[in-house]
Amino acid sequence: MSLNGKKPVAIIGGGLAGLTAAAQLRRHGAPFVLYEAGPKIAGLAMTFSDGDGFSYDFGAHFITNRLAAAIGIGSKCRTVRYYGETVFMDGRTYGYPFGLMRVPRFAFKGVVAKAAAFKKGNAPQSAAEWYRRNYGSAMADEVAIPLTEAWSGVAADKLSPAVGDSLPGSISRTIMLKLASRLTRRAVACGYSREMPETPNVWHVYPEGGLGLLCQRLASGLEEDIKLESPVEEILVEDGRVVAVRAKGFEQEVSAVVSTAPRHILAKLVKGTDALQPLSRFRYRPMVFVNMRFQGRGLLPDVVIWTPENKYPFFRLTETPLSMPWLAPEGKTLITVDIGCNVGDETWSMDEEQLGEFCLGHLEDMIPNARQKYLGCRVLRTPIAYPVFLNEYEADRQRFELSTGVEGLYSIGRNGEFSHIFMEDVYWRTMKRTRQLVASLDR
Ligand SMILES: Cc1cc2nc3c(=O)[nH]c(=O)nc-3n(C[C@H](O)[C@H](O)[C@H](O)COP(=O)(O)OP(=O)(O)OC[C@H]3O[C@@H](n4cnc5c(N)ncnc54)[C@H](O)[C@@H]3O)c2cc1C
Repeated sequence: MSLNGKKPVAIIGGGLAGLTAAAQLRRHGAPFVLYEAGPKIAGLAMTFSDGDGFSYDFGAHFITNRLAAAIGIGSKCRTVRYYGETVFMDGRTYGYPFGLMRVPRFAFKGVVAKAAAFKKGNAPQSAAEWYRRNYGSAMADEVAIPLTEAWSGVAADKLSPAVGDSLPGSISRTIMLKLASRLTRRAVACGYSREMPETPNVWHVYPEGGLGLLCQRLASGLEEDIKLESPVEEILVEDGRVVAVRAKGFEQEVSAVVSTAPRHILAKLVKGTDALQPLSRFRYRPMVFVNMRFQGRGLLPDVVIWTPENKYPFFRLTETPLSMPWLAPEGKTLITVDIGCNVGDETWSMDEEQLGEFCLGHLEDMIPNARQKYLGCRVLRTPIAYPVFLNEYEADRQRFELSTGVEGLYSIGRNGEFSHIFMEDVYWRTMKRTRQLVASLDR
């Protein structure tokens, strides 16, 4: 098949999804131009180093050995030996999932809820209802709902029950994967991929030098067709079909557009149709990540600590060096504090020093002498960390999952699909979509 004479495909975004699409188009001989708004590729898969030997990503980042192998960086990744999550409540810790299951009221109400849900049959109408049916009222009200509300900034009865779809599957599978982890001394991935089977042979790894390596590998050999600092300003549609994009005032005729931009932004870019108008109200949750540096290591009881009590301004703490010791110098550690917020609010506007102080005040509950061990922090902010599944636009969300409604326009990637997916699923889903695109170009 020769696609060489065709107009190029415009790819919007140089994160994992855009670069996966670009590499796949090149493999099929289809011309493309990739536009990246920022000065660098990688998007949310960017790694930051502070010059003092600490490095951190957007949030807590792992990939799997399966994704690393697919992209061709398997030999450049280190195996993650341990990964664990714990819930901190009433000054006590409960391992996930076994520790929580041992709390009698959680176990009892969970069994009652399962039996009742079995009888009821009808589908839950909100995330709150989904949690109560699946976990029981005690675990839902004390753990799952407060965490969801802190993370999304919205009451759980206003969120779609589809929020539950992003959580790990059956408890028996979780137990099997956790046991496999202990036996193999590898952090077996659990709740990471929906596109591919989760088995004891798929575990967490971390690329040498950081996650950016994934994107560098995908971009290698494509440099000439990647335009940095080139935000796409308009996508032009005629008679229901994409015909061109405009970037830096220059119009490029195209055969198709693959966008990885968040959906509400995509809606604003499209001109010549109002088919995407419903997407303009889709919301994303902004986050501030405070990467706090400390003397010592093992300051938290586990790699990830969930904090459902609303006295804490954060909902998750991650001590990444417990899983990946190389992310901090020996004898020191890094704790990433995730705080949900809104762009421009008090949290968003605090400077680094204020945020460090703000978090320290709360961490002293959990880390004895936290202040004396503190070595300063580095802050990352993003306005688009998590898609917020509001019930009020659930019907539109489901409709746009099938198609953008504009011929030749594809919306892919985590924010383009408006989906809580990890990098492995971003990759497999993008591969699938790009194959469909190549087939349509060939027609
Ligand atoms: C807090 C957090 C923790 C996470 N943890 C993990 C984890 O542990 N493991 C894991 O596998 N995944 C994790 N993920 C998910 C993972 O980071 C994403 O799924 C993946 O990086 C998304 O890639 P993407 O290409 O879809 O989007 P992005 O990386 O967001 O890339 C989109 C790109 O499009 C560009 N862009 C936007 N608008 C325009 C425009 N108009 N013109 C040109 N360019 C534009 C942006 O600048 C950006 O570079 C996490 C995500 C978050 C937010």
